[in-house]
Amino acid sequence: MILRVYDDTKGRGRCSGCDAPLYWYEQTNGKKHPFNAEAVYVLTEHDILDHRLIGHIDTSVTISHFATCPQVGQFRRAR
Ligand SMILES: [Zn+2]
Repeated sequence: MILRVYDDTKGRGRCSGCDAPLYWYEQTNGKKHPFNAEAVYVLTEHDILDHRLIGHIDTSVTISHFATCPQVGQFRRAR
């Protein structure tokens, strides 16, 4: 799966479920998504209107925390 995120929204944090360290990115659809490591972009583009850098994340390369979190059922619906 490919997720498109704004590069300038990258932030570090911890999972509220399992306390693992995370990298957060805001997707172009406005939803935030946590990853287990800093994202590797398989492709980049610039937003036509405001020129923000958008990275394409391949979730088989950069693993979504939702795929590995043992507590994912606690907060999946909250995001
Ligand atoms: Zn977690």
